[in-house]
Amino acid sequence: MNPIERLHALPRTGLAFLPTPLMELPRLSQRLGGPRLWMKRDDQTGLGLGGNKVRKLEYLVGEARARGCDTLVTSGAIQSNHCRQTAAATGLGCVLALGGEEPTGAPTGNLLLDRLFGATVRWCGESRKGEKVPAIVEELCRSGRRPYTIPYGGSDEIGAMGFVAAMGELKAQLEEQRAQLAERRLKATTIVVASSSGGTQAGMVVGADVFELPVRIVGIGIDKGEAGEGPYEVRLAELARRLAARLGMPAHYTADRFDVRTGYLGGGYGVVSDLEREAIKLVAQTEGVLLDPVYTGRAMGGLADLVKTGALRGDEAILFWHTGGTPALFGRAEDLVV
Ligand SMILES: *Cc1c(COP(=O)(O)O)cnc(C)c1O
Repeated sequence: MNPIERLHALPRTGLAFLPTPLMELPRLSQRLGGPRLWMKRDDQTGLGLGGNKVRKLEYLVGEARARGCDTLVTSGAIQSNHCRQTAAATGLGCVLALGGEEPTGAPTGNLLLDRLFGATVRWCGESRKGEKVPAIVEELCRSGRRPYTIPYGGSDEIGAMGFVAAMGELKAQLEEQRAQLAERRLKATTIVVASSSGGTQAGMVVGADVFELPVRIVGIGIDKGEAGEGPYEVRLAELARRLAARLGMPAHYTADRFDVRTGYLGGGYGVVSDLEREAIKLVAQTEGVLLDPVYTGRAMGGLADLVKTGALRGDEAILFWHTGGTPALFGRAEDLVV
């Protein structure tokens, strides 16, 4: 079997509305001085208000079912989009290990949706990246459940397969646009995407190789990382090698294959500054599209800066990959309207 056949043979549960739309952004382009801008609308993947994690969950839930598991266990921050999308994947139970303490007031944003989707929430204080999950899994096993652990952000070689497949979807869409791209003398396509637990970017890089799609992929770093996690590009390369191995491809990925811009981290994960606020308002007011305060607001702020500083060239089509996250807007009003 070749890698594409192997990809298609993996267990997968249909959860997303695919393909997601690819739209042009003419008014935003004008405001940024004329670059050719497109947006891939993974905020419209459908399940539980959508987002990039639904692509990963198609493979993760497929694997969980193939192994006969009955409960998904995963972790994240209090306003985690990944946790909300996992909670929405119906048919299996869901236990979320969330960072922080239970808020005293009514739940808002993603946390409200976690509750509506019926997830069980365990509060984990400082540990938002799954540190308490093994203990929770053990407890579930003791009570007769069959838990399936999904790592932080769904970023293992199972979940990230969703973004390998997404490159096949994009290739078909770009072929439809080919005449238009040629007419405008656009020589290359650069994808700009928020990058945090890494499954999205690692999957895209491997997927571009699998489908022979000539795109440059620029990740905008969202999270400074924890002490001891090691350099982000090294972790992306490790994940890419595991994806490649699963697809029977040469696993030659090294850190230098991953372009991650870390200049927009500001105060760290989830700290909203003018960069995110301005980007959210700009895209809302030019295109009527909502970004989110943690990921896509920061990534779009980075894109605007890369255009301004000439790091993205005029003969490139720039494709902003909208990874979702909009429900978090409703948990962060005080940070957005200042
Ligand atoms: C999780 C998430 C990302 C980052 O994707 P990773 O695969 O974790 O790097 C980007 N945007 C949004 C809205 C997310 O929820």
